Amino acid sequence: MRLLCRVLLPAVRQGARGVTGGPQKEIRVRFAPSPTGFLHLGGLRTALYNYLFAKKHGGAFILRLEDTDRSRLVPGAAEGIEDMLEWAGIPPDESPRRGGLYGPYEQSQRLSLYHEAVQTLLERGAAYRCFCTPQRLELMKKEALRSRQTPRYDNRCRHLTSSQVQEKLAKNLPFVVRFQLPSGAHSFQDLVYGWTHHDVASVEGDPVILKGDGFPTYHLANVVDDYKMAVSHVLRGEEWLISTTKHLLLYRALGWQPPEYAHLPLLLNKDGSKLSKRQGDIFIQHFVQKGYMPETLLDIITNCGSGFAGNQIGRTIPELIQQYNLQSISTHSALLDMDRLPEFNRVHLTRWIEGADTRAQLVAELQTLLQEKYKDVTFEKEYIERILVLRKGHLNLLTDLLSPDYSYLWIRPSVQQEDLHRLSSEATEIGSLVVRILQNSHNVTGLEVLSTELKSHLQQLRATKYSTSMKLLRLLLSGLQTGPSVAEMILSLGPEESIIRLQKALLK
Ligand code: GLU
Repeated sequence: MRLLCRVLLPAVRQGARGVTGGPQKEIRVRFAPSPTGFLHLGGLRTALYNYLFAKKHGGAFILRLEDTDRSRLVPGAAEGIEDMLEWAGIPPDESPRRGGLYGPYEQSQRLSLYHEAVQTLLERGAAYRCFCTPQRLELMKKEALRSRQTPRYDNRCRHLTSSQVQEKLAKNLPFVVRFQLPSGAHSFQDLVYGWTHHDVASVEGDPVILKGDGFPTYHLANVVDDYKMAVSHVLRGEEWLISTTKHLLLYRALGWQPPEYAHLPLLLNKDGSKLSKRQGDIFIQHFVQKGYMPETLLDIITNCGSGFAGNQIGRTIPELIQQYNLQSISTHSALLDMDRLPEFNRVHLTRWIEGADTRAQLVAELQTLLQEKYKDVTFEKEYIERILVLRKGHLNLLTDLLSPDYSYLWIRPSVQQEDLHRLSSEATEIGSLVVRILQNSHNVTGLEVLSTELKSHLQQLRATKYSTSMKLLRLLLSGLQTGPSVAEMILSLGPEESIIRLQKALLK
């Protein structure tokens, strides 16, 4: 059965309040994850769209932890989520860690606010205590399933008289509080999905808003906090669209003005399958460990969806803010092609190498990584910088430089004599020739110049082919059969170190 009827009316969408025209109010948006797991790509995208919206309109971006389901809390997840937002470069303005005027920012610290709201609803007859036992509820569920019906609470306790309630309370019977769903819910206008109608009372039983343990359920806490935190716009995943009517009914019962809603289409794998948390490699921490740059992740998760002027690889956060437009978000799912992640990172890494300040940051980072790997060797900043500039455009990840393919940059390779002579009987001659070129040349600063110089000298050797000479030299310098050009290797290592390597290998 189709529960939601969707009518997309662009003309009407233009006319919505706030950002889309009409009276302006302070823009306050929130990312409200449950700390039942670590931040993943889907969560990062929701946080990012909220962040961009806040920054675009000079508003505030709030991190609120919805930690009322105590049984599902994962130790370290709350801190991990905030750490990852900071790592990604989209830090909240208000959060558990940063505080703010509307705190606390963990729902578990805000119980009195929910109790107050429950009290109001009870007094207004919009909520009621339900004393049904878990056994009864379970039985009802089984019955429904047996007759192929969707299980729903039959609202029995709605009809208890106040003396029956008093009697049960006097007996100390455990209870939960349920919200009495009024029939005939209104349609609402979602800023992405357009006019939406869901007659929730016709398909669901009255939902629990306060559990037996005194903690609120998601629906109540979400509504109370969005209101009390003066949230102006709720931007969240499409999976919550179906809950919005219930939220609006709660706002109405409490006499509160609701925020505006914009639901974001799903983020899926490129084949259209669901991003599964069990995949493991969708957690942000995984990409941090692999050495991906924050901007790469933000770029790839925005490039596959709508909401921007167009899609182009290599966007930075300021560019994302500038191009972002809530009204251009379509209802199409965003298909994420993670195979392109290395390519995205290469583009961002190249840009970082090109900028003086960002290059300095990369140099410092690489210096620390090298120190950890090659414990007792120190590498000069200038040396590391030269390598980065020479390898620009070839590196997918900064950490590629720690792979065995690049170890020749940091330690001298061991070269087997047999390999040299197997490649060319003129090995010694070729090596010595290049040593002489380097000793006499004052021009080893440019890649082009050095390549030309090597070529013109080596081509004069008759017996060995030019490409074989290059293979041999590469082997002498790096111990590798394939890799960067010989000229680049010489420029990376510098003439002195190159001469040492050539001579050392040939003298053996
Ligand atoms: N706690 C909900 C979640 O985990 C928040 C949904 C919302 O943004 O309202 O996604």
